[in-house]
Amino acid sequence: MESFVDQSGLLAAQPVVYNVCNFTKPASGQPGLVSFDDVTTMFHEFGHALHGLLSVVKYPALAGTNVPRDFVEFPSQFNEHWAMEPSVFANYAKHYQTGAPIPGELAAKIRRAAKHNQGFALTEYLAAALLDMAWHMLPEGAAAGDVDEFEASALRRFHVDFPLVPPRYRTTYFAHIWGGGYSAGYYAYLWSEVLAHDAYRWFEEHGGMTRENGERFRAMILSRGHTSEMVPLYRAFRGKAPSVDPLLEYRGLKPETHAHTAPR
Ligand SMILES: [Zn+2]
Repeated sequence: MESFVDQSGLLAAQPVVYNVCNFTKPASGQPGLVSFDDVTTMFHEFGHALHGLLSVVKYPALAGTNVPRDFVEFPSQFNEHWAMEPSVFANYAKHYQTGAPIPGELAAKIRRAAKHNQGFALTEYLAAALLDMAWHMLPEGAAAGDVDEFEASALRRFHVDFPLVPPRYRTTYFAHIWGGGYSAGYYAYLWSEVLAHDAYRWFEEHGGMTRENGERFRAMILSRGHTSEMVPLYRAFRGKAPSVDPLLEYRGLKPETHAHTAPR
């Protein structure tokens, strides 16, 4: 997702937003079939698109997705949830020859598969995010010393020094945090994901995918751009601070406490 024109009341500019998907081209004469990974990506990018399109702010620099990096992936990751919403899923997930819907058991299997290997995935991510923090918390002018030693001691300090689960990126090739703009911000995807699952939980607690709920999300989150600090913005929508539990439950790392509307 990117935007050609950011929304702005000041300039009376309507947003012009686009999604580009480089999906696999079908064989000649065959329909294009989209993998579930690509379906998820499409919902993700469309979540960013909605954030840009539904913006109602004065200044273009604060519009739509011009929000802090640890918030910008929240609407997109949140939107991924609708891919498996039963009524949405039934609308697009059909057999390409017979038109038959995907059997419920297969849908449930997709959901269960999302929990596979999540202990490893979360730990390697956290190790990389904490390593990023450790390097960027060094005071200005501090001698870095031996890079491998620094890395090992940082991982020990944060209790993520597991030989079988190394950090996703080691210091010497962790491009994101040196020249890639993520300096002390690699945690941002995961923090956005906490918000995404917690917000979806709000929907589950309030009757699921209804026009009224969607309108509230549009008014309190998607239309607001960066016109507020993100913490109070989110708290106002949720009615309380975000909880990490929905993320842990979604990833299968904590027993589920909530009766879900979508197949799990
Ligand atoms: Zn994204």
